[in-house]
Amino acid sequence: MGAVDATDQDMEPYNAARKSYAWFKKVGIHVLQRMVLNAKVLYSVTNKRKVDMKDFTLQLCDEILAKHLSDYTAMRDQHKNAKRQKLSEPSTSRLAGHDLVRSEQNTRRRCWVCYNIEKKRSIFTYKCCIGCKNRIPLCSLDHFTYYHDNL
Ligand SMILES: [Zn+2]
Ligand SMILES: [Zn+2]
Repeated sequence: MGAVDATDQDMEPYNAARKSYAWFKKVGIHVLQRMVLNAKVLYSVTNKRKVDMKDFTLQLCDEILAKHLSDYTAMRDQHKNAKRQKLSEPSTSRLAGHDLVRSEQNTRRRCWVCYNIEKKRSIFTYKCCIGCKNRIPLCSLDHFTYYHDNL
């Protein structure tokens, strides 16, 4: 498989071109995504480690906002704390021992919620719940919460 195929595949799950924007927006978004992808490739090569496209994009947004928006860091921390409180409030005992962690195995697995609930086949993650049987793979705090609240 050529390098071009691999990078296109990398962008595919988050490909805005599939959404129904006007064509010129698609072009603009595609150029932006391509820039992010290029940055990701450079980052991976210089740091000699593979990074997830979604994680990289989120981290990038985070750092750009923190740099250019003065209240951003405070807002973000407030939001994070509120989210964490929400997560630990209702069912602390049931969630004892459960936590979203990066799996020690260096393989990505399909997020359980993305795959079974949202029917997205292409979302892979290193993250999983340390407390669940088989260390259920879950891609985000939202899906961690969803999984433990609904199942
Ligand atoms: Zn997910
Ligand atoms: Zn769990």
